[in-house]
Amino acid sequence: MDLEPGFIEDGGEHSHGYGRWIEGTLKLGLFGGARRLGKARWIIDAFRCVRCSHLELFVRPND
Ligand SMILES: [Zn+2]
Repeated sequence: MDLEPGFIEDGGEHSHGYGRWIEGTLKLGLFGGARRLGKARWIIDAFRCVRCSHLELFVRPND
């Protein structure tokens, strides 16, 4: 695996109803929120193993 750092965005009150992944190590701003201005976001798909319920996350390709 060739892993790149990132974090899952919490949209809070302005949630779109699905999780998104943002590239780069999570850094907090002055007021404790994640610094994410101008960063690319990827929609996350979550796949569950029907046998053991293990969860795997993938992001959709971004264009
Ligand atoms: Zn399994």
